[in-house]
Order: sequence, then structure tokens, then C-alpha cells
Amino acid sequence: MKKMKRWKIKEVLRQGEEQDEVIIMGWVRTRRDSKGGFSFLEINDGSCLKNLQVIADHSIDSFDLISEKLHTGSCVGVTGELVQSPGKGQSVELQAKSIKVYGKADPDQYPLQKKHHSFEFLREIAHLRPRTNTFGAVMRVRNRLSYAIHNFFQGRGFVYLHTPIITTNDCEGAGEMFQVTTLDPGSIPMVGGKINYSQDFFGEKTGLTVSGQLEGEVYAMALSEIYTFGPTFRAENSNTSRHLSEFWMVEPEMAFYDLEDDMNLAEDFLRYLFKDVLEHCPEDLEFFNKQIDKTILARHQEIIDNKFERISYSEAVQLLEQSKKNFIYSVEWGSNLQSEHERYISEEVFKKPVIIYDYPEEIKPFYMKGNDDGKTVRAMDVLLPKLGEIIGGSQREDDYNVLINRMETKNLNSDDYHWYLDLRRFGSAPHAGFGLGFERLVQFVTGMENIRDVIPFPRTPKNARF
Ligand code: ATP
Ligand code: MN
Repeated sequence: MKKMKRWKIKEVLRQGEEQDEVIIMGWVRTRRDSKGGFSFLEINDGSCLKNLQVIADHSIDSFDLISEKLHTGSCVGVTGELVQSPGKGQSVELQAKSIKVYGKADPDQYPLQKKHHSFEFLREIAHLRPRTNTFGAVMRVRNRLSYAIHNFFQGRGFVYLHTPIITTNDCEGAGEMFQVTTLDPGSIPMVGGKINYSQDFFGEKTGLTVSGQLEGEVYAMALSEIYTFGPTFRAENSNTSRHLSEFWMVEPEMAFYDLEDDMNLAEDFLRYLFKDVLEHCPEDLEFFNKQIDKTILARHQEIIDNKFERISYSEAVQLLEQSKKNFIYSVEWGSNLQSEHERYISEEVFKKPVIIYDYPEEIKPFYMKGNDDGKTVRAMDVLLPKLGEIIGGSQREDDYNVLINRMETKNLNSDDYHWYLDLRRFGSAPHAGFGLGFERLVQFVTGMENIRDVIPFPRTPKNARF
């Protein structure tokens, strides 16, 4: 007999017509038995938010035998015929002719029963949480955003670049590094009171990358426009709802761009992503708008329709000094803006995305291009309401002598950066770039409060399970 093609539930719900013979496979979300000798099963296979309703007449072959294995969580294959659905919101349902149970789920032991589970509880069962509506929707949105990121850059001729994960450079303290070593912690080789890294695997001290920027610059100085999109690691002990120890970062780097071009690209990029996800994940976003945050759909549309606000760091400090708000950290010109300040500016003052540019030189890394005022550098951060910083970027210093001087003032050893400095010795060019935290984007798009709930398996201090 010819093997029947499996339909995805999304296809059934979109294209299925009465009398179509189909086979579907998925996991039972709920089961309800009626007195008239029927069972109603809601089946989900992750292809979309909606379940397909299956009607199982108790007279179908061996129903008695499978009935005890048919519970929430069990995995089934159902063959049958589509019939018109009397239920609201779905066109068809499946009248089962035969049901095969691939794997049962004991109702006394399966942790995901039909009731509300907290996100904290679901983190404890991160291997089962993808079978909930929320996590299915988060991962479909995450998937679409990844795809859209590639589409955006590929459409503009950027080259996707894989920068190394193991590295010796720390991007000047972008974050604390995880060390990578094969030395035996029980007997570390020492010379002169220091660890002898020449005996380590790479012959020098190495760690997991905190940013691909410096290597990205190398390739921008040859291919003009590149972007990275990969895992990034920071051993910072910050237990916030916006920091992970392992996250994904998107870092475009462009030759011949100044700071304004950089800001324009960042703005176009975000607008493109919001538009794309609204268009391709409408059902999932409506779910988030209903269940998680009732403002997200309106907010996304506003972002698409309006320009971002742009103010200098000095203007931002003025706004903060004039505000009547009681901040935990006080602000004066020269201090770092904290998340509470960033949120105040985008959420309360402008009520939309804000780009802050021209930060004091002292609080920014050595590689940012200096302004003529001698005090500020061409840095920019993009802030979103409710979230704070989502993008950090800058025009890069392209003058060899200026860069050397700045490294000296910041006590950096220029030998460690000889290859980076060479970019300014041979065919230097104005260039700029930025980094976008991918999970913060997913957070903002879905309205999910905690960054741990927008990545399949979160890594945070004291947690690397699963
Ligand atoms: P923050 O001040 O929020 O810690 P940062 O200044 O350390 O951010 P950058 O070094 O500029 O951030 O990194 C670029 C982007 O990467 C940030 O704008 C943010 O979206 C994201 N990012 C930074 N650190 C983390 C983290 N620990 N977890 C998730 N995303 C992060
Ligand atoms: Mn940080």
C-alpha cells in the first residue's frame, strides 16, 4: 500500500478541505470524553499555535486497547477524514479512522497538565516546556527573527562572517570572559608565581568570545560590509532579567560608514524585523498580545510607522538632571547611564525608541572614534521602552596615531593588538558597526519579561542544566 504523506497541522488548518484523507502526528494537549461514545482530542505538532481537534468514535478498531494510553502528553498518529467543524475558529476537524499511539504519557506523572504553570516552574522542566503554547510561540518567533536577520543583511549584500568562539582577545572588557583551558586544576604549572600558559592547549591564555567585533573589523576592511550572528559569552555575575551568560549577538561591521550611517542602519534594521515578524507570525503575536502584554501589537506598529528619537548623551544627562524622578543611581555628565535612566528616557520622556550618541570618552572602549570636542566619542546606543539597551555601536577610530594614544591612556598593550592596529597602517578606512542582543530582541517582540524564557536552554550564574 502506498504510504500516505503526513500533513502538518498548520497545513490541515489552512488548506484542508472536507473529505480530504489525511494523516497527522503530534502530541495530545487535552482529551475529553463524551457520553455518546466519542472522545475529543486536541493535537498539537508545533507547526502552529492552534491544535487540531480529532474526534475518535469509540467503535474504531481497538479503541479499547489504546484508550488507556491516550492522555495529555502522549504522542499519536491519526489517520482519518476531514469534516466541517461546528466549533468556532477552525474550519475543519479530523474524524479518526485509526489511531496509533507512539508514546504514552502517564497522567499521574506527566508534569504538564491542563492548568496554568508559572514560568519559574517551567524553567525547572526546560525539556518539556516547548510543549506549551507560550514556548512554542516564542521559538517560532525566534526562528522567524533569525531568518529575517539573514534576509535583511543578505538583501543588502552583506557577507555573513563566522568569527571565532575561542579567542585571546577580550574586546577590551566588553564583559568578563570564561576561560578555556585544558590545564588540570589540581596541578597548574607555575613560573615565577604566575600560571605558565605556554603549557596550556593554545600556549596562551584563552577564553570564550565576548564579541566578534574586532575580527569583524578585519573582514570589513576587505569585504566592505559583513555581519556576524553567533553565540557570545559573558561571565558577568549579573542576575537580571536582561542578561544571560550565553547569548546570541548580531554584529554588522561596515567600511565607509560614519556614525550617522550606522544609526540609520540600526533603525532600518529594527523596523524591518518588526515588520517582518508582524507579517509572518501574526497568530503567535496575537497570542502574546492577549496573554503576555496587551500593548505589544500597538507598540510594534508605532515603531514601524515612526522615526526613532535621536539625542546626544549631553542632552540625555540634562533630561535626567531635570527630571523629578528618584533614581537609585544619580547622574552627572561623565557617568554611565544605568538601565533605570535608559528606560526613563525611552519609556517616559519620548515613549518610543531613542538613540543616544556621542558618549564621554572615559566611559567607552579605546576603539571608538573621537569627536573634535576632545571629550566625546562617536558611540551610540539604541534604547527601547520597557527594555532599555538593545543595540550598542560606534564609528571606529581609523587613525593609527590617535588609536595608539588612546590605547596608552587606557593602559593597553599595543603588542596584543598588532593585527588590529595594522588595519590602520594598511589601507585604513572610516568604518562603523554595532551589536544587537538577539534575546533582547525576542524579549521585546514577544513581551516576555525574563530573558531566560526566550532561549531554549538558558545559561545564567549557577545554572547550566539541560
Ligand atoms: P548592558 O549594559 O545592558 O549590559 P553592554 O553595554 O554590556 O549591555 P554591549 O557590550 O554593547 O552591551 O553588547 C551589545 C548588545 O548585546 C547589548 O546592546 C545587548 O543587547 C546585548 N547584551 C550584552 N550583554 C548581554 C547579556 N549578558 N545577555 C544578553 N544580551 C546581552
Ligand atoms: Mn554588559
